[in-house]
Amino acid sequence: MSSADPRQQPLRIPALGVVALVGVSGSGKTTFARKHFAETEVLSSDTCRGWVADDQADQSATDDAFAVLYDVAERRLRRAKLTVIDATSVQPFARKVIVALARSQHVHASAVVLDLPLELCLQRNAARGGRKVPQEAIRQQHSDLRQSLDHLKQEGFRTVYVLDSEAAVAAARFERTRMAYDRTDDRGPFDIIGDVHGCADELKALLGELGYRRTDRDGAEVFAHPHGRRALFLGDLCDRGPATPEVYRTVVAMVRHNAALCLPGNHDVKLLRWLQGRNVRLTHGLDRSVQQFQAEPESFRNEIAAFIDRLISHFVLDQGNLVVAHAGLKESMQGRPTAGVREFCLYGETTGEIDELGLPVRVNWAEHYRGRALVVYGHTPVPSVRWRNNAVCIDTGCVFGGALTALRYPEREIVAVPAARAYFESPKSQHPGASEPTGPV
Ligand code: GDP
Ligand code: MG
Repeated sequence: MSSADPRQQPLRIPALGVVALVGVSGSGKTTFARKHFAETEVLSSDTCRGWVADDQADQSATDDAFAVLYDVAERRLRRAKLTVIDATSVQPFARKVIVALARSQHVHASAVVLDLPLELCLQRNAARGGRKVPQEAIRQQHSDLRQSLDHLKQEGFRTVYVLDSEAAVAAARFERTRMAYDRTDDRGPFDIIGDVHGCADELKALLGELGYRRTDRDGAEVFAHPHGRRALFLGDLCDRGPATPEVYRTVVAMVRHNAALCLPGNHDVKLLRWLQGRNVRLTHGLDRSVQQFQAEPESFRNEIAAFIDRLISHFVLDQGNLVVAHAGLKESMQGRPTAGVREFCLYGETTGEIDELGLPVRVNWAEHYRGRALVVYGHTPVPSVRWRNNAVCIDTGCVFGGALTALRYPEREIVAVPAARAYFESPKSQHPGASEPTGPV
């Protein structure tokens, strides 16, 4: 629960999400909503009652009214529109539906509680013209609300603001925070680079092919493009290959000097856990990264840990025309902040089953992709760049002896350098029957 004094601090809500106004009848929800949100952003249960029953007070119309409200809310969220719910939401079951709705649309729910004295709410209710709610109902709502207050966070509301006085309500102001994924203003151009897996030589050769030059910036060697293009790394910089620390050194310097953006891959995240001293299995080539990092100073290991820790799961770029994520991202999850979205970005979609090689069976989301944005991803090594619908996989298995590939955006040209050799044996290479290499997670 936020204890921030709203007179000082704005109430921060995600620019895309659900905001539930919680409070008894007469607490001022509708008035508050009108003050802070656009008319179309607010879905009021009373208004919906009016629509379905010609009477905003007709309690027999509650089920129909909420069916309409949730339906509109879901459609708005699908369209990435902030949605404010103006209903009492003082009972757990009502809030449960809101949390579930947010979850189903991969957004966070916030609660803004108008926790005003019962007497004041009764007074306002009595004074208001037209529809009046029975006093007993308001007393019951108030009691429900008091019992709820401590549980909102547990129920799944990401942020809870409690406004507990008229002054706090009057002073409240909202700040809509832009999602970290939202880089729609960033139009590139980009050179999007697939899974490097410790292949530093091939990375530098590819950067050279793409026109990047070694420059000296404050004593650090930085690859930069003379025309201001930026590299965009799709993650999995580490494991299996011969020079993982050098790959991070190169990429971190580029990111720091605004010559690159970088996403996390599942391998980076697992390496991070090792760097943080946690217990991880040294499988799928992590043992090689560990060996290589053990030869590096602790300060460097800490720097790389901090770097990986800060990486954002995916980006929506170029006015929404481009989405990048390590394992790709289906349309309904693009630009959304939940842990489930991050999982998808890192690992892709899996069935939960394990194949005969002990690898997770993957679902190829790209086969069903119908989104407007071009999705560029890696993660799954393919023999050659694979376009499906409006999605393209550019992990061409460099570390397995394939090639390191870049997609130039917006040109959509492929630039690739062949691997000097195979550094690691593909777990699928002895199984040519497996037509679609999935690569280990
Ligand atoms: P709701 O039932 O929670 O939606 O409450 P309303 O927004 O409909 O407000 C109930 C009554 O209280 C209305 O007559 C409002 O004009 C009045 N009201 C709401 N907010 C305030 C406020 O901040 N100050 C004062 N003085 N009256 C308010
Ligand atoms: Mg109201």
